[in-house]
Amino acid sequence: MIRQFELVDRVKSYEIGANEDALNRAYVFSMMAHGSQIRESGDPYFSHPLEVAGILTELKLDSDTIVTGLLHDTVEDTIATIEEIKGLFGPSVARLVDGVTKLSKLEQKSAGKHQIENFRKLLLATSRDIRVLLVKLADRLHNMRTLGFIPSSERRTKIARETLEIFVPLAERIGMQRIKDELEDLAFTELYPDAKNTIVTRLEFLKSQAVEEEIIGSILKELRQKLEAEGLKIDLSGREKQPYSIWRKMQRRNAEFGQLSDIMAFRIVVGEIKECYQALGIIHRNYPCVPGRFKDYISTPKRNGYRSIHTGIIGPKQRRTEIQIRTHQMHQVADFGVAAHWQYKQENREEAPSENQWVHELLDILEHTTDPDEVIEHTRLDLFQEQVFCFTPKGDLIALPRGATTVDFAYEVHSEVGDACVGAKINGRLVPLRTVLKNGDQVEIVTSTPGVPAPEWEGFVVTGKARSRIRRFVRSKQHSEYRRLGEAMLGKAFSEKGYDITKTVLKTTLGSFGMKELEELYLSIGQGNLMASIIVDMIVKGEKGGKLTHKEESVAENAKFANYKKSIPIHGLIPGMAVHYASCCHPLPGDRIIGIQTPGKGIVVHTNDCETLESFHEMPERWVDISWDISSAKSTEFVGRLELVLANQRGGLASLTTVVANNLGNIVNLKINNRTTDFFEMSLDIEVKDNKHLNEIIAALRGIFVVSSVTRAKQ
Ligand code: MN
Repeated sequence: MIRQFELVDRVKSYEIGANEDALNRAYVFSMMAHGSQIRESGDPYFSHPLEVAGILTELKLDSDTIVTGLLHDTVEDTIATIEEIKGLFGPSVARLVDGVTKLSKLEQKSAGKHQIENFRKLLLATSRDIRVLLVKLADRLHNMRTLGFIPSSERRTKIARETLEIFVPLAERIGMQRIKDELEDLAFTELYPDAKNTIVTRLEFLKSQAVEEEIIGSILKELRQKLEAEGLKIDLSGREKQPYSIWRKMQRRNAEFGQLSDIMAFRIVVGEIKECYQALGIIHRNYPCVPGRFKDYISTPKRNGYRSIHTGIIGPKQRRTEIQIRTHQMHQVADFGVAAHWQYKQENREEAPSENQWVHELLDILEHTTDPDEVIEHTRLDLFQEQVFCFTPKGDLIALPRGATTVDFAYEVHSEVGDACVGAKINGRLVPLRTVLKNGDQVEIVTSTPGVPAPEWEGFVVTGKARSRIRRFVRSKQHSEYRRLGEAMLGKAFSEKGYDITKTVLKTTLGSFGMKELEELYLSIGQGNLMASIIVDMIVKGEKGGKLTHKEESVAENAKFANYKKSIPIHGLIPGMAVHYASCCHPLPGDRIIGIQTPGKGIVVHTNDCETLESFHEMPERWVDISWDISSAKSTEFVGRLELVLANQRGGLASLTTVVANNLGNIVNLKINNRTTDFFEMSLDIEVKDNKHLNEIIAALRGIFVVSSVTRAKQ
């Protein structure tokens, strides 16, 4: 076990102003708190937090983190409380210990599919302060080192698997290469002992062969000579590849390993970036390059901050040799990832990036997929790409499903904020409410009271919370609209037959539909469940005519209505209902169409691939099956809408309109939606006979070179 003064000395060796007092007290506090508890290994429990703290000193983390390492299991496993820790070690340590404790609790609960959700929380909790995550990784590392003491093989397997699936990718994404390698190796040993043994044996063999032939030594010697001859000061070393990464490579490529370059890479470490390129120049001048092996991660670092130059050469002794070139600083980052930033802070007394910046960087890392080169693929972490993390102006983190809009954000903050939302700003700029959020966006919701959700929001929100809230509101609104529509339709149906409507008579029919109130009848008609004409027939034929008043003047009205009906070239309409053509998709005769009952508008006709229809998927009662009556459609002109991208060139618009005119189309509206120096994006409304006609125009437009794209509008 590390002794108290050793631990303190270690921290003092790298941290200026290390909190010696807190370290000493934490050591004693943890030892007392864990008391006589023992580990599976038979060691006193206290050895575990102590080792964790030890690992954290190797990462050169600050006193608060080391203290947290010592205390990390006290709240969960002993009678100590967060309040107590806050009193003794201050709020910052208390916050860190609390974070680690929460993670440990989630970890225990995590199993199967819940693991994903838990892990999301894990991320949320940790991303507020990445040191929590570092302590957790150190904790996991020590538990993996002592995994062999756990008697149940089932439990060992579970822990090892979880390590590979969750902790390894996490360590990798934040650049903690050294911890990642060790975790991977320990899990590999537990899960695939035979594979591990085979590879290790083979590695040993290849290495001993190389040693025997003095290959490694002479490569090192020759490289050093060439580089130093040109005045470079270098650290040169050979690094064996990890058995697990060799195994993964063999699995992926179905390859064997036999060459030196398969088992070892050489590393040149220099002082400055320009020396990296000098070294690269020397290497490439002296040895032939292996094509496709050169990568410059200095000019374009990996997402996790990794920087180095990689190259492959036919090196000394005609051996294929892989070489990495980097500075000392890059080397530190390559091993310790984010922890290295704390090290710089200690060493150079520089400002560390703010916490908020850490969150951004972490999220950025999570958002981008790993290089294809990298060993880890299809990790569970990728599932988090289905989420997007945003901030309130105060910096609170809000997690939403990918595709979420500002309205989802508003409802996630509070349902009243959602209802009252009238506008949104992303990163200070006003955006449309339907804007899809991206990771790291700071979102400010503009509200007005009393708030009323808009029905069209339902078309773009993705969270259940927002949707149900909007729907509930829309339902109640719809209800009264349908009721109103039903009453109007019934009135119309009566006057069509030449009668005045009377409520007294209407009430007599309620019983035959199992209804009690007139309201229900209106609603049912408005929603299209009952046909107004049937009600009228029932009343008229059911001899109740005596009580009805005939209405002469309605005959004219009647005729007008009949005409109107005839002019709609659509089969399957509910009699008496008005028809509108949707402005989103501009249906044309020949298109496959669907009707949607819409309060105040009757039936709105959409093409059946219109994107707007998605918002009606859960309202089957509003769908009406309709089709074109092509024979009667001929006389009518319809309007189709096109979306075009047109090169910004002299005469471009003229050639466009000429083509439309030559094809017997009539442009009735033209709108430029976006213009750059090179292109116009525009929508064009054209009167046509049917969809075939429009398609002919589209084909003709595609034939002129100024048109870079043309499609029918679907939304
Ligand atoms: Mn622990």
